[in-house]
Amino acid sequence: MVEEKFIKEVTSVLGEKGILLGSEVTERKAGIWIEEPIKSKVILRPRNTEELSKILIVCNKFKQPIVPHGGLTGLVESAITNEEEVIISSERMINIEEVDVTGRTLTAQAGVKLQTIQEEAESKGMFFPLDLGARGSCTIGGNASTNAGGNRVIRYGMTRELILGLEAVLADGKIISSMNKMLKNNAGYDLKQLFIGSEGTLGIISKVVLRLQEKPLSQNTALLAAESFQQVSELLKHIDSMLGGNLSAFEVMWRDFYLLVTSPPAINKPPIDQKYPYYILVEYSGSDQAKDSEHFNLILEKALEKNLITDAVIAKSESDRRKLWAIRDDVEQQYQYGPIKIFDVSLPINCMEGYIKDVRKKMSEHWKDFHCTVFGHLADCNLHIITAVGGNDPSSISKMEECVYEPLRSFRGSVSAEHGIGLEKKNYLGISRTDEELALMKSLKNNLDPNNILNPGKIFG
Ligand SMILES: Cc1cc2nc3c(=O)[nH]c(=O)nc-3n(C[C@H](O)[C@H](O)[C@H](O)COP(=O)(O)OP(=O)(O)OC[C@H]3O[C@@H](n4cnc5c(N)ncnc54)[C@H](O)[C@@H]3O)c2cc1C
Repeated sequence: MVEEKFIKEVTSVLGEKGILLGSEVTERKAGIWIEEPIKSKVILRPRNTEELSKILIVCNKFKQPIVPHGGLTGLVESAITNEEEVIISSERMINIEEVDVTGRTLTAQAGVKLQTIQEEAESKGMFFPLDLGARGSCTIGGNASTNAGGNRVIRYGMTRELILGLEAVLADGKIISSMNKMLKNNAGYDLKQLFIGSEGTLGIISKVVLRLQEKPLSQNTALLAAESFQQVSELLKHIDSMLGGNLSAFEVMWRDFYLLVTSPPAINKPPIDQKYPYYILVEYSGSDQAKDSEHFNLILEKALEKNLITDAVIAKSESDRRKLWAIRDDVEQQYQYGPIKIFDVSLPINCMEGYIKDVRKKMSEHWKDFHCTVFGHLADCNLHIITAVGGNDPSSISKMEECVYEPLRSFRGSVSAEHGIGLEKKNYLGISRTDEELALMKSLKNNLDPNNILNPGKIFG
């Protein structure tokens, strides 16, 4: 039980509006795709870094475990709470403090939604490239703490590459303000990296300085079909080299994924016949629509000549482009299969074809009827695998996990490409990390959070 004295002390810092109790908490769902309610009984809602720091001092004094909450779109149970834990939500830390067009930076509090940041950058003629399906709900603090990836990683990198500065509050309330705005800064350790991708276990992010880019002035998008995986990987090399490294997206869908998302009851229609084994959504952002389209078409013609693709549909308008992306983004169709398990792994591109065959073979040893649909940000070495075996009982889940994770061991693939570890993957972290790496992670955690109050039990422990 959370102590009464604790509640009194945090209320004196935050005021009545800064704390939610009882049904105001339990009426909320534990996550955007989770039906169960939040188990914690207390949500603390600081408005700024100073309030956050003061409440962390109280939490540390009472050794009160806390779980940071952003938009609750995380997919690995990293924001799940129990009854003893208290939530610190960034929902009132929603100010965009500055957009510096000359310096190409945007400074925002952690609770600002990703889409709001994209729109703010756009309104100033700039571009913030991070983009994911959850853009309308996820927060920039959540993106930073999960080091989110998304659709444009091949061109702009993951969230880590888009953050120049960051402010975080440690478990003892100390404010670490690394609000750097320069592209170059090698003055000692880059401390912000401790908090990016550490899922709220080392500190709570209060602010970020984001790196903005110039807005692309042209978009060229096509859906392509290929007959073999060999063609897909040669196509990547072909397109990327002809674009001089300016490829913006290279998303691949295995046939069963494409079939599902382009057949009723899905609303999208198949722009290309459903008979091919691989479908590739390619995008190139440039600066001159007419010239870029001509060059893009030439690249695709050459790909046809070289027999790297069998069919192609090129978007002729923004509406066509959205329709092509809607196919790739309609992941929720997977729920037609009943309970599903979403995997997010990474591995070298040249191991992918054999790996997927291996996963399917392993699954067929356990189940006669199963689904294993595959798609992903292939150019980033990242595949999403969605499995369905008719049930989600613990034994089925652990068998599915073994089928997907164990084959990664031999080529040191990652059990998490972009979603993080949370509670869901912590038993498998050892597949992707050495004992020495794990020991160093744990020692950092012990050092920064000796009372283990920050998101305890997540990632490891
Ligand atoms: C439809 C959909 C599509 C998605 N697509 C992608 C994708 O393409 N790529 C991708 O990488 N992910 C994707 N995700 C996963 C998810 O959106 C990201 O992990 C996102 O970054 C989480 O942000 P959030 O604000 O919702 O964080 P939450 O879910 O609230 O929290 C996630 C983790 O961050 C911690 N946290 C939150 N805020 C803070 C803070 N201020 N300081 C410290 N820790 C904090 C939480 O404790 C938790 O550990 C998708 C999810 C959905 C539902």
